[in-house]
Amino acid sequence: MAKMWRGIIEQYRDYLPVTSATPVVSLCEGNTPLVPARQLSAELGPQYEVFLKYEGLNPTGSFKDRGMTMAVSKAVEDGATAIMCASTGNTSASAAAYAASAGLECIVIIPQGNIALGKMAQALMHGAKVFAVDGNFDDALRIVREITNNYPITLVNSVNPFRLDGQKSGAYEICDALGDAPDFHFIPVGNAGNITAYWRGYVEYHKHGKAARRPRMMGFQAAGAAPIVRKQVVPKPETIATAIRIGNPASWKFAEDARDDSNGMIDMVTDAEIIEAYQFLARREGVFCEPASAASVAGLIKLMKSGFFKHEAPAPGSKVRIVCVLTGHGLKDPDNAIKHSAEVISVPASADAVLEHVALARR
Ligand SMILES: *Cc1c(COP(=O)(O)O)cnc(C)c1O
Repeated sequence: MAKMWRGIIEQYRDYLPVTSATPVVSLCEGNTPLVPARQLSAELGPQYEVFLKYEGLNPTGSFKDRGMTMAVSKAVEDGATAIMCASTGNTSASAAAYAASAGLECIVIIPQGNIALGKMAQALMHGAKVFAVDGNFDDALRIVREITNNYPITLVNSVNPFRLDGQKSGAYEICDALGDAPDFHFIPVGNAGNITAYWRGYVEYHKHGKAARRPRMMGFQAAGAAPIVRKQVVPKPETIATAIRIGNPASWKFAEDARDDSNGMIDMVTDAEIIEAYQFLARREGVFCEPASAASVAGLIKLMKSGFFKHEAPAPGSKVRIVCVLTGHGLKDPDNAIKHSAEVISVPASADAVLEHVALARR
């Protein structure tokens, strides 16, 4: 039997609001690997298993594709000819690609000067009309809402409910891969759509008997953009992790529900902690994600250091399973990658010149 992966709508059709009349617009998103994190697991101890849900391996390099296949398919079903979004980068990259595939016009509004280079390249390359506004993400979203309320353009930010429906598929895949939900689910929190979607996914899978339990949802904001943790809107959010540089999350209330219903937490990590996790993942685990994605692992490391897991003994014969979502690919943000790595060493074109810089024994 042919086993070609055809994207999350075909894979999870029974769990999604689609019918045979829905024209499926897919780039074969989803089916991303759950990579065992050897070093993190070793540091936690033999009773723990850490996995990285590597969402950077989606077609446009972030989890946004899971939601976009749904939002764009439903927009086409609805007769739309154009879509629009505000974006810290990845939503626009995804919207532009899916719009291209569906033959729709795509308009994106980004905050001036705060978009990672790779994301900008994607939106432009896929033919979107890109506007940079003199404001932050929250300003951009306000403008998009105003325009889409008054003109026949479909809004594809995560306030579009189909986006969250599609993003639930991440939770389904994790349960399918592990045979059950993990004990803990670590995730970066920006506009808070993804933590909402994952929790809904876990709850639904549990309800359908596809998972025996539900994880504790562990969300992490950047300290300079942590409205949920601080319990107030942050008017000028600041963080190196531009994908979570959001001061007034659209799904704020839903994220609090996910935290409370799952006996989880929403905490924050500093930019220094984010960069440390970003480097650790690349250098020790071999997995390259963008800075915002590393917030999940920064949160895990923060809790490890505080002794949080000492109180989390597994059931006899089993292990405590921890999944960290790595939301986007490291190549999205080459500037930060280079800035936080060692410098290239320039040498004359000889073996001796190279060997001066490496400690090797001659064979
Ligand atoms: C969008 C995004 C986030 C934040 O997700 P929310 O649903 O807005 O909380 C985190 N990381 C990356 C890479 C993203 O693109």
